Amino acid sequence: MEEFHEVAIAYYNNAPRNLQRLAWSFFLALDSDGDGQISYTEYINFLRQCGYGWISSNFFKDLDRNRDGCLGFWEVLTLYYVIKTRGLWCQGCQTCLVGLYFTCVSCFDSGSRTYDLCSACYKQKKFSHNHTNFMDNHLLLRSKRGLPAGTANINLALAPRPAINAAAAVDDDLMQSFQALETGVAGGKPNTCIVM
Ligand SMILES: [Zn+2]
Ligand SMILES: [Zn+2]
Repeated sequence: MEEFHEVAIAYYNNAPRNLQRLAWSFFLALDSDGDGQISYTEYINFLRQCGYGWISSNFFKDLDRNRDGCLGFWEVLTLYYVIKTRGLWCQGCQTCLVGLYFTCVSCFDSGSRTYDLCSACYKQKKFSHNHTNFMDNHLLLRSKRGLPAGTANINLALAPRPAINAAAAVDDDLMQSFQALETGVAGGKPNTCIVM
């Protein structure tokens, strides 16, 4: 949640004045009893009235960073950021995705609903999905600059090339294996990192 909080503040700080004022108006509107903070009841009322019933009521505890039982302006800003721009939940275990997560590249590229997984579910294969090409969110962003030449997708880019495999098998010298891996990741071009 700390990451979302930081991101929400960063967006706010870079937003034009009128947008910042709208954020404050939203906070004041939420605060129906005018005590300067958002209680659990005010939070639940907002979710129900505005059609965000899919957000877990327990999410309030996650948002309440200082554990004082209510939400301040910055915590409400984090809520706004999560419901408007994220709303990403692991399809395996239904937790809110924070930080690093994996997404199905086929679903992402199709423009339809994305299929996202937390690291644990992806690592332990705790999901059932009809596509196999997954990428973590950081790598996905960098891949938008284009993949290395000669690689159709990220899985091909990451797969060792047969020739390099053979070389590594006959000589298990650490350096040579490492260079072979680097070459494989770069799709055959030595010294080119895939994410650079
Ligand atoms: Zn999960
Ligand atoms: Zn998919």
